[in-house]
Amino acid sequence: MRIPKPVQNVIESFEKLPGIGPKTAQRLTFYLLHVPQTELENFSEALTNLKKLTILCSICKNVSETDPCGICADAGRDSATIMVVEEPLDILAIEKAGRYKGVYHVLHGSINPLENIGPDELYINDLLGRFGNGNPEVGEVIIATNPTMEGEATAMYIAKKLKGPNENLKITRLGMGMPTGASLEYTDEQTLSQAIEGRREF
Ligand code: ZN
Repeated sequence: MRIPKPVQNVIESFEKLPGIGPKTAQRLTFYLLHVPQTELENFSEALTNLKKLTILCSICKNVSETDPCGICADAGRDSATIMVVEEPLDILAIEKAGRYKGVYHVLHGSINPLENIGPDELYINDLLGRFGNGNPEVGEVIIATNPTMEGEATAMYIAKKLKGPNENLKITRLGMGMPTGASLEYTDEQTLSQAIEGRREF
């Protein structure tokens, strides 16, 4: 059977998503054929607005509807402590754990030579920029990249870059309890809280 072009187009779009193989892409697409037209239109509008109506916060690079984002703009947060994470989803996990009251910086990835992702492809210079002339108030940077090979390499790179020009800055790494190879996103709240409490100096 020849699959109609409009159906094939949706299948191909699904196949581009992570973790979705050809079979799942077909199943999802044929499922959508049963969904009422109005619901499909809501779905497509949500997709259209996903990037149109969000921006990266100019300070921390988190995905936001406003600039600065809610966390950067919150006077109740401790702006003297910056936690560096790989992805916006990591912030969700840490916020859910509920212990951390500082601010964040999102790198949007980690250094990965095999995939040609170097420091310049990440928001590392923007992080360093936060220590420029105007901000001697930052007292601690918690590097919370994932405990993977790429995450460790990224942590080391950032620690080295920060230490030079900021002698008095305390640079820490999340503590024990985080299993090697794990991702913050999938770490439970208690383990995350313990990892933050038990952070160690670089
Ligand atoms: Zn922000």
